[in-house]
Amino acid sequence: MPTLLGIPLDVNSSYLRGPAGAPVKIREAWRSDASNKWSELGVDVGAASAFADAGDLHLSDSRDKVADDFAEIERAVSELLEKAEQPVSLGGDHSVTYPILKAFARHYPELTIVHFDAHPDLYDEFEGSRVSHACPFARIMEERLAKRLVQIGIRTLNRHQREQAEKFGVEIVPMSGLPAYDQLNIHGLTYISFDMDVLDPAFAPGISHREPGGMTVREAIAHLHAIEGTVVGADIVEFNPEQDVSGTTATVAAKILKEILGKMIGAHC
Ligand code: MN
Ligand code: MN
Repeated sequence: MPTLLGIPLDVNSSYLRGPAGAPVKIREAWRSDASNKWSELGVDVGAASAFADAGDLHLSDSRDKVADDFAEIERAVSELLEKAEQPVSLGGDHSVTYPILKAFARHYPELTIVHFDAHPDLYDEFEGSRVSHACPFARIMEERLAKRLVQIGIRTLNRHQREQAEKFGVEIVPMSGLPAYDQLNIHGLTYISFDMDVLDPAFAPGISHREPGGMTVREAIAHLHAIEGTVVGADIVEFNPEQDVSGTTATVAAKILKEILGKMIGAHC
């Protein structure tokens, strides 16, 4: 069953810290009585034993202990996968997806990743770091941790990252190419990596890198629902509570969580 795992880590952020505080805020918004727990797919995500919660990891979140923190993330995700759970991680900057995928690749060697983001995060290195939140998908593709990487909502592609995408065979659906509901062609075992900055900052201001011209919440949900593969895991990253306005982004993150869980649970109903 889907199992939540909070990852309070933002040491690999290049611009602003803050996403380490995301797990607490997403859980708060999730528990809010403002909304019920029915996914738009008609699935009661709040039903007893619909999903589990493994709590938050204890991480040092310091620059000299990144390797230890990554090892702990990989260990915790592996432990869930060994119990046949489907990890859904909350929070962290996007660097966390690399250790998460290391664990997934051992269990699911043929995984397709659907990556929602304003940014391709394909830098070979960024400001001297190869584990920056600007680099995770370069590491993932170098180490062949996924069979297919489909990026959607991209609107900051530069020459270096375009070359990286070509080198790794990354399929990019740019923001300007949306809607692409019928072009995604996602089948088989699927992992969703959802960077909150794929959304327009008007809908989700609580992020570190505001890139206007992004998705509405509706577009994001419609593209999530259009995935035909079997979703075996997901992450929701880059929510920065320090930048949020009136809890808006926390509410949106909880909504995205509800729709991802609805998709995962609905597949087994
Ligand atoms: Mn990202
Ligand atoms: Mn991003």
